[in-house]
Amino acid sequence: MLEQAQKALKEYFGHQSFRPNQSELIEHVLKGDDVLAVMPTGAGKSLVYQIPAIISDGLAIVVSPLISLMKDQVSALNQAGVKAAFLNSSISPVEQAEVLEYAASGSCKLLYVAPERLDAPRFLSLCKTARLSLVAIDEAHCVSQWGQDFRPSYLRIASFIEGLPKRPPVCALTATATPEVQKDIARALELRDPFTLVSGFDRANLHFGVERPDPKAKRACLLRLVREHAGQAGIVYCSTRSAVEDVCGLLCENGFAATRYHAGLAASERHANQEDFLFDRKPIMVATNAFGMGIDKSNVSFVIHYNMPSDVESYYQEAGRAGRDGSPADCILIYNKKDVQTCQFLIDKSYEDRGGGFADTGAWSDSAGESALADADGASRAIYDRDCDRLRQMVFYCTSTDCLRSFILRYFGQTDSPYRCENCSNCSTDFEVEDVTVEAQKILSC
Ligand code: ADP
Ligand code: MG
Repeated sequence: MLEQAQKALKEYFGHQSFRPNQSELIEHVLKGDDVLAVMPTGAGKSLVYQIPAIISDGLAIVVSPLISLMKDQVSALNQAGVKAAFLNSSISPVEQAEVLEYAASGSCKLLYVAPERLDAPRFLSLCKTARLSLVAIDEAHCVSQWGQDFRPSYLRIASFIEGLPKRPPVCALTATATPEVQKDIARALELRDPFTLVSGFDRANLHFGVERPDPKAKRACLLRLVREHAGQAGIVYCSTRSAVEDVCGLLCENGFAATRYHAGLAASERHANQEDFLFDRKPIMVATNAFGMGIDKSNVSFVIHYNMPSDVESYYQEAGRAGRDGSPADCILIYNKKDVQTCQFLIDKSYEDRGGGFADTGAWSDSAGESALADADGASRAIYDRDCDRLRQMVFYCTSTDCLRSFILRYFGQTDSPYRCENCSNCSTDFEVEDVTVEAQKILSC
């Protein structure tokens, strides 16, 4: 079977070999096991279900949350000569009927669907008559009510699978799942003794650092860090638009070619600034977390956080935009107690704003009309507690004297990490006995 998989990898995707985790996961899928793959973005999770789908008989159903993601994947597959199609609200009823007919014909190997389609009668009757090779759930963390991207419609997946005449193997894939979220995914999707693999979160070329300057020396600290990276491309993340304006001004006054990006700027300016950064005309980008999604700049040598993000997931995602080309890069967080209060304030505010209800981010295209959770009050409180816990972990990262890399990897559930990496600011510092975490515990009272 693996030989066939290898052949398909070369033939359709033009790759010479599998990455180690891919072949292990594919082997399990082909054996009929449920799998849960937690690997970072870019690790190659798609092949984990695409290859088994291609070499197995029948049709694979791929649940995917974003219309644009489905479109891209399907057109890439079609270009590679793989028969695949998608079904979502972006296509007309006539086209939907055509897709269903194509999927039923037996020649289509992968059908991508939005979770909202799972109980559409005609789709269901297709799934009950067609032979299904597997069901894949991309961005599986969306099923977790505690996750940032929770999609109520992901909760339909389990009953969809249960309703199938013959249960095919189920693959759940995600880039972000702490051990708790992994458990949540397995439970909510009713995975059967899933083979779980958490891997690839370590980015050996990244050097992690935390700076804890006196609040008054924060700007000077930033300038020093940026000077140390003179001539290199980097991103400085700030938590607010006004901080972006302020920091960008500071860097420009000091002779650095910096530009800025936040949601308060006109789309045309955002676009122009982004291009200046991408083409190295202005190698320093000062931005809020609105910047970065889908940006693929390989030579970012440093990511500095001028403000602490509210959770380790966000931090690692943003910091991870450094060193994509594999060259050594620095990820430095400037810690300031005040940021903890700001984050706490925002968590409190969003809890109040939810008013016990559930805020839909609107970022997902097919989610209009999704209902709130049944037990909205309890859920809202649980999300609040979870957010506080995440913030606490973020503060521990900033104040811990233990290895930073090992902290991050353990946070994400990757347990094979070394105790000391010797490539972070904590591993290279001899700390005095004073324990800064005690101070952090005092700040955090929630
Ligand atoms: P993920 O879903 O984990 O973010 P993707 O499945 O989109 O990642 O793959 C990321 C990139 O890695 C794609 O460009 C893909 O072509 C490439 N890739 C995946 N597997 C391999 C492989 N075995 N050899 C070379 N490139 C690969
Ligand atoms: Mg993916």
